[in-house]
Amino acid sequence: MTTALVIENLTKTYKNGFQALKGINLRVEQGEFYALLGPNGAGKSTTIRILLGLLKPESGSASILGKDCWRDGAAIRRDVGYVAGDVRLYPWLTLERGIKLLKTMRPSTMPERARQLAERFHLEPHLPARKMSRGNRQKLALILALAHDPRVVILDEPTSGLDPLMQDTLMAILRELALLGHTILFSSHTLAEVESLCDRIAVIRDGQIIVDDKLSTLRQQAPRRIVATFSNGRTVPQILPDGCRVLWKPGRTSSPSSEEAELAGIPPAMLSQTCVFEVSGTVSALLPWLHEHSPDDFSVGAPSLDALFREYYQQGQGKGL
Ligand code: ADP
Ligand code: MG
Repeated sequence: MTTALVIENLTKTYKNGFQALKGINLRVEQGEFYALLGPNGAGKSTTIRILLGLLKPESGSASILGKDCWRDGAAIRRDVGYVAGDVRLYPWLTLERGIKLLKTMRPSTMPERARQLAERFHLEPHLPARKMSRGNRQKLALILALAHDPRVVILDEPTSGLDPLMQDTLMAILRELALLGHTILFSSHTLAEVESLCDRIAVIRDGQIIVDDKLSTLRQQAPRRIVATFSNGRTVPQILPDGCRVLWKPGRTSSPSSEEAELAGIPPAMLSQTCVFEVSGTVSALLPWLHEHSPDDFSVGAPSLDALFREYYQQGQGKGL
């Protein structure tokens, strides 16, 4: 695999003295579908603007397909498909005018490809940006960024403003590009939209990468929720398996926490007969407990990346990350 994008020890301090990036390392292989995930203000847009050569790094380096992002910024902006987090378009811009403007700089396949994408996004080709909804302006920016089939695509929170169906359309288009060997890096603050599609996820928080792994590996480490129910009249075990995080144990008298309130899916009448807990990684630690207590019913949920990321964030806070 060839590496498409390399970031090494990247730092950035803004003029007001705020350090937005504190030494970031990232490698994205060619053909990878990579998500940069993090809460608002984590440093995603700063990283992406450095990659596009729009911001100068303080120290460290960033390169795309062997080109230095700052020194060769103009070439990178020409070749890379990029949509900024805050899309701004000329009010008179329509898809057709955009095609006309870019045609001379792009491959001859660009106009046809742009029109195909417009059909998939249901975008009217002659409507000017000033008459468009936010979502439609986002679609126009995406189409003009993708129509020349760039080898590297970098999108900053690209789904913002798109309705769920159009989000799916965008993700399908990006997946197709990745399968053809194009490299995709996009940022998001919501896990849900990256969870089903990405090959790899990096989580950035307070200017530092706190997790960087394959989605499949993260899934293996993610906690699963386990629900065990005992029929009326049977003793509910008060000792739960080692290594589990207890979400609900019958017999508690204190008022429910927010997490316990989430267990609303379990009918209130059943809560006194139900144990709910979470295990990370393998569930084999549960087997002796099951053997001993034989619940009437028992279910193991799918691994929850959401819970895993909440854990990472909490650990990060604990370590002062
Ligand atoms: P994200 O895209 O993850 O939401 P940003 O990269 O935009 O985060 O911002 C990271 C941090 O840097 C934030 O705390 C933000 O307020 C700060 N920041 C961004 N741009 C500037 C700037 N031009 N001057 C000073 N601070 C900035
Ligand atoms: Mg941003």
